[in-house]
Amino acid sequence: MLTGCAQRYYYVEKDTLSISYHPEYSVVHLTQEEGERQLHQLANTACVEEEWIFFKPVRGKRGVWYDVGKVQQETKVQMNGEILEKIVDTFTKLNTQRIILHCTHYHIHPLYSLHQRWGSVISERMVDIFSLPSSSDLEFTRLLHTFLQQRGYVLDDSRVVGSQGMYVYTVPRLSNKNLDAAEYFKSLTSKAVREGLQDKDVQSVLRVLRQGGVEADYYSFR
Ligand SMILES: [Zn+2]
Repeated sequence: MLTGCAQRYYYVEKDTLSISYHPEYSVVHLTQEEGERQLHQLANTACVEEEWIFFKPVRGKRGVWYDVGKVQQETKVQMNGEILEKIVDTFTKLNTQRIILHCTHYHIHPLYSLHQRWGSVISERMVDIFSLPSSSDLEFTRLLHTFLQQRGYVLDDSRVVGSQGMYVYTVPRLSNKNLDAAEYFKSLTSKAVREGLQDKDVQSVLRVLRQGGVEADYYSFR
């Protein structure tokens, strides 16, 4: 069984994904599709961001969703690195057959948060555009990819779930070692928003991100 949890951190088995505050972290066994459906609902009702790491099932359909967010705020959430390390250690100990485990990182950009961040005048069409991953989301994915890879895990992609749809993205290694990654992603996401708003089209956001080396897709829930 690859479902152990880091006891010391008060993991509580729950049925649904929700905003949960330390010390009561939640672990939920759900299929990826059902989990995404719940995050879509949460993005429409929550007032703060939250994040999870989803371990894909080795067999069967239900995987494990661990809440890994801390300091949940209206427009940001931090990953609890210590707890992620514990979770990964626990999985590694249980994984005696050395199966390569795949995971996906999720967080939500609630509708409420978009209004706080971008102002209250957001038309429905703009919600798709403004739900894009932020520059710090892109930078974080890059670091998480390396962290997991060093421990024998594969981060298949990262997903940000908004109130109307979901961005799926992977961030490659930057070939230019001298590049300031934070600055690079900042200018990339600003350009993506600018061109998205100009064309009133989420496809323009994706085009800019892809041109900048970020593989990105958008799945509308409508
Ligand atoms: Zn974000």
